[in-house]
Amino acid sequence: MIFPLPPNATIGIVGGGQLGRMAALAAARLGYRCHILTPERDSPAEQVAAAVTHGDYEDPVVLRAFAEAVDVITFEFENISAAGLELLAALRPVRPAPLVLRISQDRLAEKKFVSRAGIATAPFASVESFTELRAGVARLGFPAILKTTRLGYDGKGQALLRGPADLEAAFARLAPKPFVLEGFVDFSCEISVIVARGADRAMTAFDVVQNHHRAHILDLTLAPAPIARAIAADATATARRIAEALDLVGLLAVEMFVDRTGQVVVNELAPRPHNSGHWTIDACPASQFELHIRAIAGLPLPPAIRHSDAVMKNLVGPAETALWPAILATPGLIGHLYGKREARPGRKMGHVTRLFPKGGLPGAADLATALFPLTATFERE
Ligand code: AMP
Repeated sequence: MIFPLPPNATIGIVGGGQLGRMAALAAARLGYRCHILTPERDSPAEQVAAAVTHGDYEDPVVLRAFAEAVDVITFEFENISAAGLELLAALRPVRPAPLVLRISQDRLAEKKFVSRAGIATAPFASVESFTELRAGVARLGFPAILKTTRLGYDGKGQALLRGPADLEAAFARLAPKPFVLEGFVDFSCEISVIVARGADRAMTAFDVVQNHHRAHILDLTLAPAPIARAIAADATATARRIAEALDLVGLLAVEMFVDRTGQVVVNELAPRPHNSGHWTIDACPASQFELHIRAIAGLPLPPAIRHSDAVMKNLVGPAETALWPAILATPGLIGHLYGKREARPGRKMGHVTRLFPKGGLPGAADLATALFPLTATFERE
């Protein structure tokens, strides 16, 4: 394939969720077609794409047919096996590179990679047996968090350990093994940075944002994060260093904690568009999705600048989704729905963005009014 990818070329996206949907919309605006690979019928991404292959991510016949139908391959779903990745990469360029996915799909590999790059993470220990779990908590202390190394998202696959009495149940309940044990970071806030890195290795980063979770699911993102300038600069430099160390081509979201001393601690990497970057669709000349598509297509990257401040609120589950007509009737709220038929509890159905003039982001006390009729959870420290 020739890069930059010419107009009308086909981008293969592994995964059919909302991230694929918004990436396909951005790709369409740049004159590309998208072909989605997903096991799910009527997925959010295929509803807005040129083509879809329904099949298993691990089926070599399916993977081969998909690869042969596209010009370049990218991911919105990261948990494909190493064998599956290799098969795809043998047939078409895969961006980001398979090695990046292999690191980010394994929490232990990810933590080792980040700390080897000289960047702070929560203290951690590898846990393959109950004996190792006991040794781990003896070293890291309580509270600690036990996590599966693979397949965890939105708080799934993890358990908080408050004391010795919690060990046995957590070890028995979590699956699959092995696990990673993490020391508890007493954080003052959670932040994230999204960096785009082009095929020419040029980089640009969106402003640092602050994230607030409810029941382990992202509820709110504030852009920019109301944090000290030095902490924001540190977070941005950290994300850029990781993107460079990974030799990334594409997009990287880095989730971080700011601890009580103001130190930035890396929690998680996602080499793809990220929920905490959805505000960029409405508040930036080029969104995270456009930067992702440009990077993997070998196009030049525009700077990741923001014309407005923004608050993004996720629409999760049936109760928030039922507010859709009221959201549409409220001036200033910008609504996005993902085309999912059933609003199950805990399912991300859409999001809402509200823009403010730069420097005009409301404080915690005024957020409820700004997002009315939605009620957001955000406690200021
Ligand atoms: P994760 O699945 O790793 O993104 O974790 C989900 C949420 O659990 C994070 O957003 C934090 O609120 C919390 N959490 C995860 N790891 C830690 C940790 N080591 N210390 C404190 N809180 C954590």
